[in-house]
Amino acid sequence: MSERLSGRCLCGAVTFTATPVGGMHACHCESCRRISGGVSLSANCGDSVEVSGPLATYDSSDWAERQFCPTCGSGLFWRLKAGGMTMVSVQAFDDPGAFAFEDEIYVDSKPGNYAFAGDRPRLTGAEVEAMYAGGED
Ligand SMILES: [Zn+2]
Ligand SMILES: [Zn+2]
Repeated sequence: MSERLSGRCLCGAVTFTATPVGGMHACHCESCRRISGGVSLSANCGDSVEVSGPLATYDSSDWAERQFCPTCGSGLFWRLKAGGMTMVSVQAFDDPGAFAFEDEIYVDSKPGNYAFAGDRPRLTGAEVEAMYAGGED
């Protein structure tokens, strides 16, 4: 997928466009579950995100921050502070169904009372952190 897609928060105060790199990733880590109120489904949009409207920022770790609409609270972006990677909530895009479901990460943090059907890579937190030498908090 390389086209520019549009999205917004629930109340519409924040709108954005972005060009996703690849498909959808599910993160079961505690931080994503707490801030999203569910399972975080997101797509990496690199540095392509262009935002219109106010954003609130939560400094969630030494390497990343999370941004959300200050009016309605919609969680929109997970940004690597160093740049190069912005995970955008798939649910904020106008067409969340457009993304292929690529993988699940932090599966060892997933509560046991639900699971996604289907076959795809499922990585533990340690496996993810070994790949990126960082984490997603
Ligand atoms: Zn809003
Ligand atoms: Zn996460």
